[in-house]
Parts: sequence; C-alpha cells; structure tokens
Amino acid sequence: RFITFEGGEGAGKSTQIKRLAARLREKGLVVVLTREPGGTTLAESVRAFILSGAAEPLGPEAEMVLFAAARADHVDRVIGPALARGEWVLCDRFIDSTRAYQGGDGVDPDLLNGLEALAIDGVRPDLTLMLDLPVEIGLARAARRRDDGDAPDRFERETVERHERRRQVFLSIATANPDRCVVIDANRSEEEVAEAVWQVVLKRFAD
Ligand code: C5P
Repeated sequence: RFITFEGGEGAGKSTQIKRLAARLREKGLVVVLTREPGGTTLAESVRAFILSGAAEPLGPEAEMVLFAAARADHVDRVIGPALARGEWVLCDRFIDSTRAYQGGDGVDPDLLNGLEALAIDGVRPDLTLMLDLPVEIGLARAARRRDDGDAPDRFERETVERHERRRQVFLSIATANPDRCVVIDANRSEEEVAEAVWQVVLKRFAD
C-alpha cells in the first residue's frame, strides 16, 4: 500500500502523516514513513541544496531535473523495495507536488510527464490525501512554526498568488483522479483532521 500526502504550506502534512503511521503501527503493520524531496542521501542533499536558498536561484527546469533525479533514487532504493516487501509506504509529498510547484511555475507539461514517468517507473500511489486549506491560513501556520525555531524556506516566502495557483493545481488533480485522491478539509483541529484521514484509510483499505 502506497499512500501520499499532498498540500500547500502549513497544511499539516508532516503532523498528519506521523499520526497515521502511528495508528497503522498500532495495528501491527510495518510502515515506512518518508518524504520528498528527500528520503535517500542523494535526495536529502538535493533538498538541502535547493531549499536552503544558499545557491543562486535555479530556474524551474533545472530544479525539476534535480527533483526528478532525487525521486528516481528514492523510488529505486526506498519506496519500490518496501512495497515489494509488502510494507506500507507513507510519503510526505510526491508527484502532485511537482505538478503544483514546478508545473505551477511554468515547466512544460511534456517535460513534466516524461520526467515523472522516468522517475516513478510505474510506482504510483494507491491513495493520495490532499490536505486543503486557504492559503493565508496555511502561511500563517507556517510562520508560527518558524517562531518555534524552523527556518523559513524560500518557498514559504513566495507570494500568496503563487501559492493560490498551486492550491488550484492540487484541487484540479483531485477532481481529475477521483479513484486515487481524496480532498481533506485541513482547516480544522489536528484531531479532527487525523480522524478524517483515518476514516478515509479505513474505507479505502477495508480488506
Ligand atoms: O513538505 P515541505 O513543506 O517540507 O517541503 C519543502 C519545500 O519544498 C516546500 O516549501 C515546497 O514548497 C518545496 N517543494 C517544491 N517542489 C516540490 C516539492 C516541494 O518546490 N516538488
């Protein structure tokens, strides 16, 4: 079983994915919890390189190619093998983030499709939970997290308009892929969102 969490800044993906992992483990299931960009040594280096903002800004195409290399490594070494062992894989962001971020920033759709196919090699999520909330609320939450010590990454400093465009991409992917995607209203308490996530997972994997 392969489940991905998607959504904009401050939607609560990292919190909710941990809660779901804990709940599945309580049931005795073996769960691999991972994230993108990241999940392997190479992919975490790409993440740090791009997100730190230390390097000169990359264009969306260069960024796209690096993220695709990171994903290929992640699928080859972590996600694919875990699924082959029959484990549950929960991934914080995956292909839909690429469509929302790099796609939303204007990368050519053919390039996006080609690199996606190359990187995932047929490994697709069984279920994608789209945590959705108004952009301003998500950004305010992300800002509070920074007050708790997290450094702002460069994506969190971008314009509301750009974030809004990405939100619309996520929602349109959900509409176009109803068998895979479920939109969860993330503008609720952590408990309520966790319960909504759990109900979707129970229903989807009832067997
Ligand atoms: O999931 P998290 O918020 O930690 O992701 C780190 C950052 O990477 C995010 O701010 C997101 O905007 C950015 N990102 C991106 N393109 C992707 C995936 C993530 O720009 N394909």
